[in-house]
Amino acid sequence: MLGSMMQMPLLISSLLMHAERHHPEQEIVSRRVEGDLHRTTYRELAGRARRMANALTARGLKMSDRIGTLAWNGYRHLELYYAVSGSGAVLHTINPRLHPDQIVYLADHAENTILFFDLTFLPIVEAIAPRVKTIKAFVAMTDAAHMPAGSAIPNLLCYEDLIAEGAPEFDWPQFDENTASSLCYTSGTTDNPKGALYSHRSTLLHTLSAALPDALNCSAGDCILPVVPMFHVNAWGIPYVACMVGAKLVFPGAGLDGKSLHDLFEAEGVTMAAGVPTVWQGLLAHMQANNLGFSTMRRTVIGGSACPPAMIEAFEKTYKVHVVHAWGMTELSPLGTICSFKFKHKELSVDQQLALQARQGRVLFGIDMKIVAPDGGEVAWDGLQTGDLQVRGHWVIDGYFKGEGNNPLVRGWFPTGDVAKIDADGYMQITDRSKDVIKSGGEWIGSIDLENIAMAHPAVAMAACIAARHPKWDERPLLVVMKKPGMDVTRDELIKFYEGRVARWWTPDDVVFVDSIPLGATGKMQKNKLREQFRDYKLPTA
Ligand code: ADP
Repeated sequence: MLGSMMQMPLLISSLLMHAERHHPEQEIVSRRVEGDLHRTTYRELAGRARRMANALTARGLKMSDRIGTLAWNGYRHLELYYAVSGSGAVLHTINPRLHPDQIVYLADHAENTILFFDLTFLPIVEAIAPRVKTIKAFVAMTDAAHMPAGSAIPNLLCYEDLIAEGAPEFDWPQFDENTASSLCYTSGTTDNPKGALYSHRSTLLHTLSAALPDALNCSAGDCILPVVPMFHVNAWGIPYVACMVGAKLVFPGAGLDGKSLHDLFEAEGVTMAAGVPTVWQGLLAHMQANNLGFSTMRRTVIGGSACPPAMIEAFEKTYKVHVVHAWGMTELSPLGTICSFKFKHKELSVDQQLALQARQGRVLFGIDMKIVAPDGGEVAWDGLQTGDLQVRGHWVIDGYFKGEGNNPLVRGWFPTGDVAKIDADGYMQITDRSKDVIKSGGEWIGSIDLENIAMAHPAVAMAACIAARHPKWDERPLLVVMKKPGMDVTRDELIKFYEGRVARWWTPDDVVFVDSIPLGATGKMQKNKLREQFRDYKLPTA
């Protein structure tokens, strides 16, 4: 017997309709490429998204067409999130920090038909326009007054002219909730990037779960500033969550430095932010240097790479901002686990709580996880033994776009490429990416632990730990350190800093100081580049 309940497909347009009907006056503030601060509301967002959907449909947009964007976080990008996916087409957000060759590859692979771009990225678009095969129109996300003069880009359109073309009435089409909605590619550090093609259903379920108190904990009482870019796994779902709960949204545009962010936090009453550790480093340095605090910020979600415990402590103790440590990946839409306390953890001391927050946390409902040994057997959840982390759930890919990489699943589970341990309460902690693990004398050394310790030293700005070749042990840890400006520390002092903090045989064999550590397009340390740079490094112990 079937239940006698209404059938409504889980569609992204329903989020926008909800926001328009129930939170019409809620504000969306954007720092624009044009230089000013722009203010709009969910009512206007919905109206303009309808106009854009109309204009695109009139120009021939069809279901499942892939529409590319090269854009910062801003209201126009948000309009496209809804106009494109809501029409049944697929929003392909491209990371503008990638090399132009990679952008050409992505646009061709996705067969983008239109490319929207912020004016910042005009030089990239000029470089790729003659090379891309399927793009029929390029749209500059600005008004007529700011259109680039004398550009050689063919079929260059103006965003505001397009919006003006579209009639305001548009009924969001109803279709199968399994229809593709958006496309994000992995960063492809070793291979060509592979596409994760999300559906309306997977996105809606991810949104519902992500907003829960033990996850992002968002409500209509929040003012959310996603520093994480909308071109990086849909800004971790915040553009959808904000509409669902009716939160005020603040978009930083291109201003991601500490001062620009802090000014915006204070001026707009931001209560919650989200971003990768490298961004928060800039913010904390600015705040320390200028003796600043937060008036309204209550919590920040940190993920994308391991959040160093020293950063968690600075936020919690000095700035009274609660750190929510999150783990995920492109293939998971992206949220997999979030670290929030259970009832019994309220009894813990502050320092015990901080230690727990350094873990990546428990799964969201809708995701399951396990750690497995090389033979495929499950590893016990004792908080000690590590294994390869595998996941499955409503918003995990079951294959890559166009079948790239063949079938990635192992007996129905997606292998994440991360090495982790899980404790009896279900808290997962990433110890490494499997390709970064240091194999010393047949035992594994987790590089993240070693990096976290180095980053707790007051003179260290950033630290990466990589495997260096060793004649006896195969590999030993080499610590690559970037110092804070004006601060000093020696190799021996750093090695000594590990005493009592880690098993003696885990202590790095050597330290090298560098001016900068290479970061990838999503702000993560590129350890493969460091491994290449120090391939022939001779350890003093070798
Ligand atoms: P890519 O895999 O293309 O680098 P993703 O953004 O999908 O890009 O990155 C996912 C990976 O990032 C995870 O598999 C994991 O290694 C790492 N990661 C994400 N969040 C965390 C975290 N909180 N702690 C440690 N590693 C993390």
